Amino acid sequence: MFPAKSFSGKKVAVFGLARSGISCATALNLGDAEVFAWDDSDPAVEKAKAEGLSITNLHNVDFKTLDALVLSPGVPLTHPAPHWTVIKAQQAGIEIIGDTEIFARELNAAGSKLVAITGTNGKSTTTALTGHVLKSAGLDVDVGGNIGLAVFNLREPAPGRIYVLELSSFQIDLMPSLKPDVGILTNITADHLDRHGTIENYAAVKARMFDQMKDNDLALISVDDEFSAAIAAHVEQHHFAMPVSVKQDLIHGFSAPEGVLHHRYQGELFAEIDLRAMPALKGHHNWQNACMAYGSAIAMGVSREQIEAAMQSFPGLAHRMQQIGQAGNVAFINDSKATNADAAEKALGSFENIYWIAGGIAKAGGIEPLESFFPRIKRAYLIGAAAPDFAKTLEGKVDFVISETLDHAVAQAAHDAEGDAPVVLFSPACASFDQYKNFEVRGDAFVSEVAKLPGIHMIQGDAP
Ligand code: ADP
Repeated sequence: MFPAKSFSGKKVAVFGLARSGISCATALNLGDAEVFAWDDSDPAVEKAKAEGLSITNLHNVDFKTLDALVLSPGVPLTHPAPHWTVIKAQQAGIEIIGDTEIFARELNAAGSKLVAITGTNGKSTTTALTGHVLKSAGLDVDVGGNIGLAVFNLREPAPGRIYVLELSSFQIDLMPSLKPDVGILTNITADHLDRHGTIENYAAVKARMFDQMKDNDLALISVDDEFSAAIAAHVEQHHFAMPVSVKQDLIHGFSAPEGVLHHRYQGELFAEIDLRAMPALKGHHNWQNACMAYGSAIAMGVSREQIEAAMQSFPGLAHRMQQIGQAGNVAFINDSKATNADAAEKALGSFENIYWIAGGIAKAGGIEPLESFFPRIKRAYLIGAAAPDFAKTLEGKVDFVISETLDHAVAQAAHDAEGDAPVVLFSPACASFDQYKNFEVRGDAFVSEVAKLPGIHMIQGDAP
């Protein structure tokens, strides 16, 4: 924890006392701001008190006496309706910001650098991969934001230090000073519309990533979906932008439609990297993440060779298509984050010769949308509540066994797996709540079952 100096001598309300709220309030206190911290939930208030924060009921505070409201990104700014603190702040005419905004001010004052990553999907992977590549090249890097540590739990901004931050659209909405040295937009698809109203509004928030960039800054924007492509076209007119695609080979930009990353500048090929060789970067979606990480590393002065070596050693993010073990030629992949068919499709599309463990609580439609991937599946091992329904879908198309529990499924799949580069893939296409607390606990259970297998070599991951 370090002092947030930008609000020294000011009066600040902090609403929302979860992880980031508590650390931001503490940092503001350390920086000699007068902090009025509050939450609507009693347990949150109690926890904040236990951490040493003094609490003030914001219902009883005249917001005209304050300089700013710091809102937790989980609290509605606009949709479905502005939170009562937002209305009070608007009526008093004070700024409404997030902890990441205050951090951005500290970072600018210290002369640190910012690589900021947003998008509907791939944020965490791109953030972790970018952090890994920059760290592997020996740069002074911290990784956090929406992934891992809250910003005020990172190290204090210092000249030249690079912060790689994952930013949700809610965080961007609360960051008027956002001006990244490298700004990344991975993609935009309909999601979180309950909190942003329309997709146009959601896209407009994402686009703010690039509003204040300067000449030396770099925008990396996918051109593979219509909303991101429109933002790319607009940003290109004002700032230095490089388009990214995994659907087409770009004559200008970073692209990898076939899994070989091409870095081209106005038609001239600068570098290429074969991403198909990277164990934790399987599939088009990960090639997109890799193009983004490549672009930011180049901007930070890292060489092609260093980037390639770091991508090779990237261990992947926990529970997202992560190879966690190897026994002989059989790879064990933990994709517990795949809580629906859409996510499991990414994994099934990334491997051949699959021994697939699936099941839990199915989403509407079950695994029917995955039918075109069935030829890749050698055998399926069904667990949890969805097993009977999944069995019906697979009947006559894929060999399967009802394993019921993960321990049986892992043992059976490990026993059966054979052939050319077989994978035992745990990509459940289901929520976990019938047998586990959440997808992380479920993924950890998979890892511990795999660790018990004879002849297994476990592969360690990076902490996010
Ligand atoms: P986020 O942090 O945006 O939720 P993650 O990196 O945690 O994204 O990835 C979550 C899931 O989204 C992955 O398991 C994968 O199925 C999918 N995914 C990852 N990267 C991308 C991408 N670039 N485009 C589309 N889907 C992706």
